[in-house]
Amino acid sequence: MPAPFGEACDLHVHSTASDGEMPPTRLLQYSREKGLRALAICDHDTISGVRALYPASHVDVLSPLVLDDIEVVPGVEINSEWAGNEIHILGYYTPFGQGPFHDLLKRMQLEREERVERMVELLKKLGMEVDPIRVMEISTGESVGRPHVAQAMVEEGYAGSVKEAFELYLGIGKPAYVGREHLAPFQAVKAISAAGGVPVWAHPGTSKSPHLLPGLIEQGLQGIEVFHPDHDLETSRTYLELAVQHNLLATGGSDFHGEGAGEGGDLGSTFVSYRVVESLRALATESSRTN
Ligand code: AMP
Ligand code: FE
Ligand code: FE
Ligand code: ZN
Repeated sequence: MPAPFGEACDLHVHSTASDGEMPPTRLLQYSREKGLRALAICDHDTISGVRALYPASHVDVLSPLVLDDIEVVPGVEINSEWAGNEIHILGYYTPFGQGPFHDLLKRMQLEREERVERMVELLKKLGMEVDPIRVMEISTGESVGRPHVAQAMVEEGYAGSVKEAFELYLGIGKPAYVGREHLAPFQAVKAISAAGGVPVWAHPGTSKSPHLLPGLIEQGLQGIEVFHPDHDLETSRTYLELAVQHNLLATGGSDFHGEGAGEGGDLGSTFVSYRVVESLRALATESSRTN
């Protein structure tokens, strides 16, 4: 789809650093094909994919990186849980250096590895031999998860597709499901904010928990992902109204995971204008001054 006026920015994209199919450099190339002006790589619990696009000497996250006319926006998506619901929080422009936020990401990555071991054990009890080393190989990055276990299951013929592996075994409440250590969405927002990043509630329509909004704002929430492939028009309108009412930035993105992935839309299929990128960077600049 051609981007209108060369202004389209996709602010929610996954790379191979988590469960996306394309490495960051391929995502850039694909963004050019789609005519995007900017893309934000928001991998689950890791910034290593987007960091790898920056030269090592480029340490200031707030100084823009433009590669072949595409602006790279650094992001991350943190999965949290509240009352049995998955709540995802996006963090834009969190700094590259070390610190408590990086310690949190490291803990989440380690926990992901342990979780894979436990899923593999449960699958074994169900009569399915899945090699955890193969799962790590498939994941390639720091952020291994259920999509990689699902892919290994497909390779072994235990499921016909990743989607089927989720439906039969890995989804919430299914026999090989292993929950994550409980991280409250309020903590995720607070951690991103304390690090100097901009916390944004990802696809809030999927969790149907609008009552959480005041508590999230209290911890420093600065935006709502209003535009997302899982939001119908009505949902987007509801959250746009909430964003306006609470003076929060309205963001959006495709949640692209890959061409054959069951999750998200095609790259650039949901987008916002470049003004949103400018606003995110301004908020992060402000946040880094007060931190
Ligand atoms: P995890 O982070 O290990 O809990 O895995 C969650 C990821 O699995 C999400 O980010 C999605 O990309 C993917 N996912 C969740 N549900 C499904 C599904 N039903 N079919 C395919 N992928 C899914
Ligand atoms: Fe994902
Ligand atoms: Fe998400
Ligand atoms: Zn996502």
